[in-house]
Amino acid sequence: MTDLDTFRTETRAWLEANCPPEMREPLRGEKDLCWGGRNWTFQSEAQRLWLERMAERGWTVPDWPKDYGGGGLSPEETRVLKSEMARIGARPPLTSFGISMLGPALLKFGTEEQKKHYLPQIARGEIRWCQGYSEPGAGSDLAGLQTKAEDKGDHWLVNGQKVWTSYADQADWIFCLTRTSTESKQGGISFLLFDMETPGVSTKPILLISGSSPFCETFFDDVKVPKSQIVGEVNRGWDVAKYLLGHERGMIAEMGLGGGSGSSATLGSAMKPRDPLLRADIAALDVDALAFAAMSERFVAMWKAGEAHPASASMMKYAGTELNKRRNELVMAAGGSDALDWDSERSKNGKAPRDWLRSKGNSIEGGTSEVQLNIVAKHILGLPGA
Ligand SMILES: Cc1cc2nc3c(=O)[nH]c(=O)nc-3n(C[C@H](O)[C@H](O)[C@H](O)COP(=O)(O)OP(=O)(O)OC[C@H]3O[C@@H](n4cnc5c(N)ncnc54)[C@H](O)[C@@H]3O)c2cc1C
Repeated sequence: MTDLDTFRTETRAWLEANCPPEMREPLRGEKDLCWGGRNWTFQSEAQRLWLERMAERGWTVPDWPKDYGGGGLSPEETRVLKSEMARIGARPPLTSFGISMLGPALLKFGTEEQKKHYLPQIARGEIRWCQGYSEPGAGSDLAGLQTKAEDKGDHWLVNGQKVWTSYADQADWIFCLTRTSTESKQGGISFLLFDMETPGVSTKPILLISGSSPFCETFFDDVKVPKSQIVGEVNRGWDVAKYLLGHERGMIAEMGLGGGSGSSATLGSAMKPRDPLLRADIAALDVDALAFAAMSERFVAMWKAGEAHPASASMMKYAGTELNKRRNELVMAAGGSDALDWDSERSKNGKAPRDWLRSKGNSIEGGTSEVQLNIVAKHILGLPGA
């Protein structure tokens, strides 16, 4: 028996003993995901227990170093843990932008003090983060951002506005791109962290077509941020921002594995419509989904080993989100007019149409599909100035 086999046996036994049965049921909606943070209300005792037990072992972030609240697992062990969790249908114990976006950026660019301070809190689900990148005039052209951070000696004074800030009204802290110099576009940006309860921060929810308000406009009016809360160097925040975007795109690409809602990547086993054309479309999607899952595993392994091409996150983001949009279109097509049912228990409160409408944003969030294709064209196909 290899060490990895032993690890699998022990992990399987531990999960069997510690993952509450309720946490092995498919997610019914976004509320079943645990986001953590100081304002989080657990949906059940099982959800609280599952987070507590996994965090205790560092398994909310299995591949982060133990010193920072992680599990210290190797990439192979992390894969075993994931496959063992998938085997019993275990829900993720914690979902957070701290894990998928800020944490990796702090591991690479943070000071030792910042790592020791923030990372264990992220791993335990104690801080919920939001991402302050986009502005009314700066989305695809992100480096055109105008939110200003002035150096006031012992602190930064932040003024400006962000938009499309997911969960800004529920987040505890924000990682925020600010302009600290106008001399160069990319070279005048700094990456700041601050508490959303700091005086001068306010949010205004934006209502979406799906009926929910997952994001906000976020306003900064003379917000004082301690000097120590900058990540990386002054005016070098673009490096941190781009690195984080790579992780964000990798995370969004996972939509291709089933939309992040606990559903299966393939549809065939769940849906058996009579219409032969629809059946053919479902079969084609299933083949693409299996190919994407294989490609995704390879990409994650290369990414973790630092061997992935810098533009491959864009390739994966494009492929995964387009696949997820197709999947949702097919669910709607197969459901006929019933699929539009919005508010009944039978339709699980309109899960299908809400997921379908939400999936429209997949090819916009984290950089649009057009922008990803430009990056692929330039860096992978070698086309000039795409
Ligand atoms: C669900 C969702 C969640 C989000 N969450 C956050 C968040 O938490 N924090 C945050 O900061 N932002 C967030 N965003 C914002 C997102 O990052 C931006 O919407 C995105 O970067 C596009 O910017 P924009 O909306 O300003 O569109 P624009 O940049 O104005 O683009 C408009 C259109 O022009 C196209 N276009 C622009 N430039 C080019 C080009 N060079 N070549 C070809 N086509 C081009 C685009 O593809 C798009 O179709 C979220 C967005 C969505 C949909």
